[in-house]
Amino acid sequence: MRLIFLGPPGIGKGTQAASISLRKEINHISSGDLLRAAVDAKTDTGLKAKKYIDNGLLVPDELVVEIVVRKVNSAECKNGFILDGFPRNLSQAKILDNTLNKAGKKIDKTFYLTASEEIIIKRIAGRRICKSCGAGYHEMFSPPVNNNVCDKCGVELYQRKDDYPETISMRLQVYREQTEKLIDYYKGKGKLIEINCNGGKAEIEQNILEELHSMSEDERGMEQSG
Ligand code: AMP
Repeated sequence: MRLIFLGPPGIGKGTQAASISLRKEINHISSGDLLRAAVDAKTDTGLKAKKYIDNGLLVPDELVVEIVVRKVNSAECKNGFILDGFPRNLSQAKILDNTLNKAGKKIDKTFYLTASEEIIIKRIAGRRICKSCGAGYHEMFSPPVNNNVCDKCGVELYQRKDDYPETISMRLQVYREQTEKLIDYYKGKGKLIEINCNGGKAEIEQNILEELHSMSEDERGMEQSG
């Protein structure tokens, strides 16, 4: 099963992709996580990508496409994957289609996650991450037991620089200008499923699971996943 989770920053793509990928035993590919790992490791890609990420801009395709395509083609993804944060524009979507075509594979469905702008901004602004294990928390919706400390490893939490209020509006603008075009792209292919994300985490997950359940075997990529 090969899925895309599409939607604005802060909607909860990462949270949902993490739990659905565990349940369905498929790989979770987050282009943002791959880029942040490259930044932390100070690789060539990471060093070039950092300024775009910090300013809420899209990293140029030539930096992000290679690391994502490598993952998509890796053995880890032989049973399928959920792409979270990729593609972010039309050219990335076409490169992804070509890559999968060459391997006789396809995207089965794109889940388009939507919510009101007010909710999106609240979700981004409260997001906190563990400096050590990367676990995600939210100040209001899923706070740690002890203030600003990770439940799993006891390490301090931090706020991503690109989640600062001054960067959020830029990221939303970039989303509207570049990524929203993908809604029509996948709708035109008959692959788009819209999920209302104004509710809580468990409700959203349940809605996604129900949609997955109602997909046919072919749509779930059963013939390819073995
Ligand atoms: P995310 O964790 O998905 O919100 O991504 C964080 C940042 O990484 C984005 O604001 C971009 O700067 C960069 N990024 C992640 N995925 C992509 C992508 N597919 N194309 C370009 N830039 C990306």
